[in-house]
Amino acid sequence: MGHTAVVGIDVGGTRIKAALMSAEAEVLAETTRATPRDIASQIGAVVAEIVSELTTMVREAGAKAGVPTVSAVGIAVPGWVDEASGRGRWSANLGWRDLDLRNDVRRHLDCPVAVGQDVRAGLQGEYRFGSARGVDNVLFVPLGTGLASALIIGGRPVAGTHWAGEIGHVVVEPDGEVCGCGARGCLETVASAGSIGRRWRARSGESGDAAEVARLTAAGDLVAAGVWQEAVSALAGALAPVVAATGTELVLIGGGLVRSGDLLLAPLRAQLADRLGVCDGVSVAAAALGDRAGALGAAALALDLLHHTNPTR
Ligand SMILES: [Zn+2]
Repeated sequence: MGHTAVVGIDVGGTRIKAALMSAEAEVLAETTRATPRDIASQIGAVVAEIVSELTTMVREAGAKAGVPTVSAVGIAVPGWVDEASGRGRWSANLGWRDLDLRNDVRRHLDCPVAVGQDVRAGLQGEYRFGSARGVDNVLFVPLGTGLASALIIGGRPVAGTHWAGEIGHVVVEPDGEVCGCGARGCLETVASAGSIGRRWRARSGESGDAAEVARLTAAGDLVAAGVWQEAVSALAGALAPVVAATGTELVLIGGGLVRSGDLLLAPLRAQLADRLGVCDGVSVAAAALGDRAGALGAAALALDLLHHTNPTR
């Protein structure tokens, strides 16, 4: 018998990331594997395998404190998630509809299981261990292939109905590009990392992704700068009303695009300030945990189960 620990697992469309964390929130081991194509039919077995792999890693590392006993597991998944019932309502990426995640995993593991939505879990990770520590009113916006959001208000995660966080599908250009969701001109088609690269390629006829657009913008390329500025303006326009409505103190930008640093954050900060006349003290900062945020946030959900403090358990 060793000491108590938890496992957090972030199941993405291409990769699964997982972390074994002590009850004192120390990360003891981490692992990544490819997401199996038929993940929906074998999620319980895959989770059990990962838990076993992580404890084996700690054993083989010769942990002084002994091999931990995993006493709770947290799983973060994309799409529409019902955290209270532990069900994955729908995920286009992982190809499931109304999957009873919590019970599927419990059939393979004899411990409590928390189910969370990936973006909200990412924010939990940043709130407990990253850039949002100590800030109780946070709007988190990861800019990656897609664009979504999550909120913590008064120190509590906000998840209204199943589509909470779908800010990427607010229409900002009514005659714009057709989005994956079928609508035209969604925020995601203007301000996600994926769309910044796509818009640049379409306008310039050159190749390159969002990182290349950032580099060219910094170097003074006018076409790249146009694409970049449109993304920042659309983002500021969509986030400002959320900040105003919720009393957000910190806008935390995540995803691959934050590597561009102040090229993104400085104009976003300025444009938010311009649009939020009466507000003061709204910070704009980069997320700290990168693609580990989801797994660490899922571990935080599991820690809450352990400490019986999670109201949505
Ligand atoms: Zn859309």
